[in-house]
Amino acid sequence: MALMGQMMSAPLLISSIIRHAARYYGSTEIVSRRTEGDLHRYTYRDCELRARKMAQALAALGVQQGDRVGTLAWNGYRHLEIYYGVSGMGAVCHTINPRLFPEQIAYIVNHADDGYVFFDLTFLPLVEGVAPHCPNVKGWVLMSDRAHMPAESKVKLLCYEELIDAQDGNYDWPDLDENQASSLCYTSGTTGNPKGALYSHRSTVLHSYASALPDALGCSARDVILPVVPMFHVNAWGLPYSVPLVGAKLVLPGPKLDGASVYELFEQEKVTFSAGVPTVWLGLLQHVQANNLKFSTFRRTVIGGSAVPPAMIRALRALDVEVIHGWGMTEMSPLGTTCKLLAKHEELSEEASQKVLEKQGRVLFGVDMKIVDGDGKELPWDGKAFGDLLVRGPWIIERYFRNDTNPLVDGWFPTGDVATIDPDGYMQITDRSKDVIKSGGEWISSIDIENVAAAHPAVHMAACISVHHPKWDERPLLVVVKKPSAEVTREELLKFFEGKVAKWWIPDDVAFVSEIPLTATGKMQKLKLRDQFKDYRLPTA
Ligand code: ADP
Repeated sequence: MALMGQMMSAPLLISSIIRHAARYYGSTEIVSRRTEGDLHRYTYRDCELRARKMAQALAALGVQQGDRVGTLAWNGYRHLEIYYGVSGMGAVCHTINPRLFPEQIAYIVNHADDGYVFFDLTFLPLVEGVAPHCPNVKGWVLMSDRAHMPAESKVKLLCYEELIDAQDGNYDWPDLDENQASSLCYTSGTTGNPKGALYSHRSTVLHSYASALPDALGCSARDVILPVVPMFHVNAWGLPYSVPLVGAKLVLPGPKLDGASVYELFEQEKVTFSAGVPTVWLGLLQHVQANNLKFSTFRRTVIGGSAVPPAMIRALRALDVEVIHGWGMTEMSPLGTTCKLLAKHEELSEEASQKVLEKQGRVLFGVDMKIVDGDGKELPWDGKAFGDLLVRGPWIIERYFRNDTNPLVDGWFPTGDVATIDPDGYMQITDRSKDVIKSGGEWISSIDIENVAAAHPAVHMAACISVHHPKWDERPLLVVVKKPSAEVTREELLKFFEGKVAKWWIPDDVAFVSEIPLTATGKMQKLKLRDQFKDYRLPTA
């Protein structure tokens, strides 16, 4: 008979994270730029008390365990209180991306069946438009004080600070089953309707532990951490949990995410570590370079959500900032891999180590991955063979919320990404399966083409998409936004590719545009671009 261990069985609960932060890092600060315009400061001790009051307020509103509570909010202390108050009491914190279309937001609120929705002042007009389409929402809570409540509104509003003030904080976090649902995020649904990933307390706490490890995000109590990635984008990649878990100072940038505002906050609050999608760092880098600035304390950043152009890694390294390339997805809580060098890479030249850092990296403990061919046969880890990437682990979804179809293949989750894995276990995404360019039966990686283009000094942003070709079926078209006041011709750009990629990978044409459409999470929206250029006639056609 099996011999059981004799250790306490303490459930892994989200409330234990904030309780730990309040008890052991009670005076550590949380600084937030508010929608009201000013900077707000308080401590983990204050945050936990107000989260308890929030849990009491929710109970007073009739919210029960398992009920969904929505948020439409920036990164700020009140949003953090909701994260802990809602999940801590056993309800489900459902963060909604306010950059989605109003119809999508209404669809998501109704699909999740949110009983209450909390929102920042910025989103009042959005809420007034969406509310009539969400009949099951019992109340819309404006995350501010009485002074900022509108004199009149088409929607019946509750006031956040009044809800908190009505409570005494005399509340014990309940003992929950660690497998209870804690939070809910919907994929952005670039194709079809958005789908919900329902996380548990257990999956969240395990993900927080693993993501804080030195070869992952490497968070410590000595850090000052500013997540630029929004709390509505896969829970800001778990930072609202992993930062209190290690007791680091947390800086929340609110609605101001332009380069100048983020830089100012970095310097003022002595930020050491940050996280965001590549488009955010484009803005920050442009501001820093144009004004000849330096970072006094900022030393590390994780960048992910889409492939980080090598030119961006170089530019940040030149400013003494280490770039940790990260890969993951909503369905993975989100972290799957992070890219850090191994001891054996110490001796490498700058250029050779850069090559390693361009990859999406190695898995965190907890995640297992494999690449397979079209028949589902596992491919070798030689850094060359590429195929469909599948993953499994305790913080990867088993199924979507309120959806009967089984997304798994033999117990593995298919990511929709195409990748290689090298003998050291470094994974590199070559493309999203729907973005690869299939030229005459061979595949061209749109990411590789974009990476070359992004290194050209006149290029601000570049997307490579497939366009119909009568002979080759598909050929690459490069769509480019130039840097302000920079000049470059189609011919110069195409020449720039020579010697950098196989000849037949060089795009057939370049289209200059004033902007590239971005998704609600700041990624280049290739579906829309392909649609925009669907009747484009290549000069080679
Ligand atoms: P959505 O893009 O639909 O909002 P996610 O944020 O979950 O949803 O995106 C997950 C996808 O983003 C991954 O499957 C992958 O295609 C892409 N992605 C994430 N990180 C990276 C990265 N570092 N390099 C390349 N692609 C990435």
